[in-house]
Amino acid sequence: MSLCLCVKEETVKAIVLFGSPGSGKGTQAKMLMERLGVPHISTGDMLREGIRQGDDLGSGVAARMHSGALVSDDIVNRLVEHRISQSDASSGFILDGYPRTLAQAEHLCEWLDGRGIREVVIHLAVDYNVIIARLTGRRQCPRCGTLYNIASQPPRVDGACDLDGEKLAIREDDSEGVIRERLAAYERQTHPVLRFYEKAGRRIVQVDGSFDLPNAVFQKIREAVDFDDCSKNGR
Ligand SMILES: [Zn+2]
Repeated sequence: MSLCLCVKEETVKAIVLFGSPGSGKGTQAKMLMERLGVPHISTGDMLREGIRQGDDLGSGVAARMHSGALVSDDIVNRLVEHRISQSDASSGFILDGYPRTLAQAEHLCEWLDGRGIREVVIHLAVDYNVIIARLTGRRQCPRCGTLYNIASQPPRVDGACDLDGEKLAIREDDSEGVIRERLAAYERQTHPVLRFYEKAGRRIVQVDGSFDLPNAVFQKIREAVDFDDCSKNGR
């Protein structure tokens, strides 16, 4: 079955995906990309890629990042504009990690409006207690690096690596304090952007992903966005 980025008779070409750390956003982005056949554009990946390729924009970004400066809205806007103007994005795209600031959101709205591209904002909302339980359950083998989760992917023997029997450890990034701080930072950054979309009357869809498996969450997104099944239309 093929899907396309249509909502009823209007054509939606842009999906703007928001989700906190641990919300499963990466998994959903990948599923959307595969099912819709449109590129998943992650600004984090693009910045790393630009730096790796050492193009003009990338070198500028690299210099700023090395000096500890934040990458300016202007640079990120240009990177994204350049990317979504490529031919593979002409039938739609998924934005992930952008817009991150009010200035970026305003810029994107203008850019899309100027080209008659409709967007839908998907906010993957997951109960923070669920996220904390999910992430604090992660364990890693210090010897071979294998990851486990005491809730969803436990080792065969409590606290020991399946492969080498090494005692599993909690990574510093997975401690509750660190996770709470990351969630708070996400909230501080994202809340104003989501409010902007609401106030501007843009199409914004909340999807609760707290208790469902990835396929069920994807189904909710699909229903919320109401993708046409384009195979029926012969497209
Ligand atoms: Zn191991």
